[in-house]
Amino acid sequence: MRKKLVVGNWKMYGNLIENEQLLNTIVSDLAGLKIEQYAVCVPYPYLSSVQNKLKNTNISWGAQNVSQYHKGAYTGEVSASMLNDFGCTFVIIGHSERRSFFGENNDIVAEKYVAAQSEKLIPILCVGETLEQRDRGITKQIIQEQLMTVINKAGVESLRKAVIAYEPVWAIGTGKTATPNQAQEVHVFIRNSIGTQDINIAKESTILYGGSVKASNAAELFAMPDIDGGLIGGASLVADDFVAICNTLNN
Ligand code: PEP
Repeated sequence: MRKKLVVGNWKMYGNLIENEQLLNTIVSDLAGLKIEQYAVCVPYPYLSSVQNKLKNTNISWGAQNVSQYHKGAYTGEVSASMLNDFGCTFVIIGHSERRSFFGENNDIVAEKYVAAQSEKLIPILCVGETLEQRDRGITKQIIQEQLMTVINKAGVESLRKAVIAYEPVWAIGTGKTATPNQAQEVHVFIRNSIGTQDINIAKESTILYGGSVKASNAAELFAMPDIDGGLIGGASLVADDFVAICNTLNN
């Protein structure tokens, strides 16, 4: 059985007081539900307080980015081993906001993926097309390139210890969600692409959908056969919404 997962991406939001309030509700409302189905990926400065709050709960945590370098004179960067010091399970790699605002191309994303796995972090590898690419009919080609650059560098076996997130760029933070059928079509494509390399890994790979998932649309998305949960941005900052989305996974 594939692992199902809901991950919150807090992006660059929050402060110590708001985080505390958000986590208080999430921790108490999700207590007792299945282990390792939920996680939050938070800004670096809050990792220590989030670790203290979430250790001994059924919610994991992680970061939203990591350096491709292990150590050295890389001012402002954070290494995978540093994330390990704060008990991270996950790290988001290649989010479209990193790709578009910070120049992360497929090769850099692949290097970061390898760096994360070298420290036993689980990369959540984001792939997805822009609206312009979808309109040009090259969605699958774009996703294939994003995926294959990582597989060529890290090997298909590496996907056993990774999560993939399909996030159409046009759906992130826009309120426009892919329809369940649109998302399912791409999820199948991703699974089949992995399947050309290794059918068992393809079957076992957890593939999340991300892009304006809300409490009101999570159920129909998560009901699709190849959607194994979600990567949630805006709605993960509202405790009741995030909890509702997590609960959807159990239905
Ligand atoms: C995200 O940040 O990965 C995301 C999917 O954002 P949102 O849910 O706000 O569209």
